[in-house]
Amino acid sequence: MRRDSLCADSPAKSRVTFFSWRCFSVKLLSMISYLEAREKVIARVHAMGRAAETDTVPLREAAGRVLAREIVSDREYPPFDRSIRDGYAVRAADTRLGARLRCLGEIKAGDAPSIPVVAGTCVQIMTGAPLPEGADAVVMVEHTTRQEDRQTALQGDTVQLDRAVKSGQHVVRRGTEQAAGLTVLAAGTRMGFAEIAAAAQVGAVILAVTRKPRVAILTTGDEVVDFAEPPGPFQIRNSNSVSLAAQVSLLVAESVILGNAKDSLDELRAKISTGLAADMLILSGGVSMGKYDLVEPVLRELGAELVFDAVAIRPGKPVVFAMCKGTPVFGLPGNPVSTMVTFELFVRPAIDLLSGELEPHPLPFTDAILTTPLSEKAGLTHFLPARLTWSFKTPRVSPIAWQGSGDVSAMSRANCLLVVPADRERIEAGESVSVLPRRESL
Ligand code: AMP
Ligand code: MG
Repeated sequence: MRRDSLCADSPAKSRVTFFSWRCFSVKLLSMISYLEAREKVIARVHAMGRAAETDTVPLREAAGRVLAREIVSDREYPPFDRSIRDGYAVRAADTRLGARLRCLGEIKAGDAPSIPVVAGTCVQIMTGAPLPEGADAVVMVEHTTRQEDRQTALQGDTVQLDRAVKSGQHVVRRGTEQAAGLTVLAAGTRMGFAEIAAAAQVGAVILAVTRKPRVAILTTGDEVVDFAEPPGPFQIRNSNSVSLAAQVSLLVAESVILGNAKDSLDELRAKISTGLAADMLILSGGVSMGKYDLVEPVLRELGAELVFDAVAIRPGKPVVFAMCKGTPVFGLPGNPVSTMVTFELFVRPAIDLLSGELEPHPLPFTDAILTTPLSEKAGLTHFLPARLTWSFKTPRVSPIAWQGSGDVSAMSRANCLLVVPADRERIEAGESVSVLPRRESL
């Protein structure tokens, strides 16, 4: 169904509706900055206040999941005064340059501390072993000379120190890293490798995590065919459905690919309605001002509240965000690099929040020195595919030659997006610029 017969497919509609703005690919909202747009997404998804459904997973499978319930420590950590060096457990008061202490024995990691240290003595101790009674510090083995005392062999060896230590030196006191019974990881924490270790340390075997959000993906376009099918001479393989699914799964959410909708009101209406049953719907294509860009009119017809429909960025200017029947809906432009960039800027924080994280991850800006001069149209913030290199100290960034937002191969050679602010028409080589490294992992 074409736009010229746009409302003819719903005969009940009045003439007024026929000419209403709902039927046309027009941008009705004013263009906003990408930072404002991000804030609007975050505010809307926060406001949904989704009661997170809970799954349970074994710790081994918890990487990337978000905790639905906090993890509490079952005991103090460390559970004993722990030596953090190989050396000798001593009384700090006995130590000074040249002091000689009698070594009473040794204690290794895992041993119970059975030999108390008394004045003038020490016990050899290994990293991870409990400090024996009487000792209050450890002298590193590198700062000692051990002498076998043959005459007094029965009484043990002598250790000569080349320095003094302070009380508590090279010892981590019991309970100072973690008190017993307190929160180790709060609900809303995304489980990375460090969080997995923290959970393991307190014996969290099974974790309560939030259900992964289900993200429906619907591409649009008469010219778009499945990437596995042979395309006709003027058709385009569907790369957006799989690149979006990859971006979604890198965020540990579940993608549901709904396929491709033709640029037809009937098909869009039906497929968008299906997608609204998911936790979020992402569309690609059909959001510009062309005659067959029908996503926005269909969303309006379905009663969506359009939150924004134009953002001052390139690529990605016609990006749409709406709430439709309680579901957040993103209408991303169809050019593949626009789709990728707008996902990173606007969809990603929404998925963070729908996953149960308390705050979305901030954009990971970093500074780099530009290697070649750049000229871009002022008024829009540009996100250009670029290559970031780290030499000894200073990161440097070079834009990648590209043919614009359809140039997927340029994007596949980029490891970052170079940010050209809206108020800069030209940036010289040697100036410092902001870049957003590509985040392929959390
Ligand atoms: P649109 O946003 O619908 O105007 O599409 C802009 C450009 O992106 C057109 O050249 C489309 O052929 C292309 N395009 C749209 N959808 C896809 C897709 N799913 N995969 C690859 N390219 C696409
Ligand atoms: Mg299109």
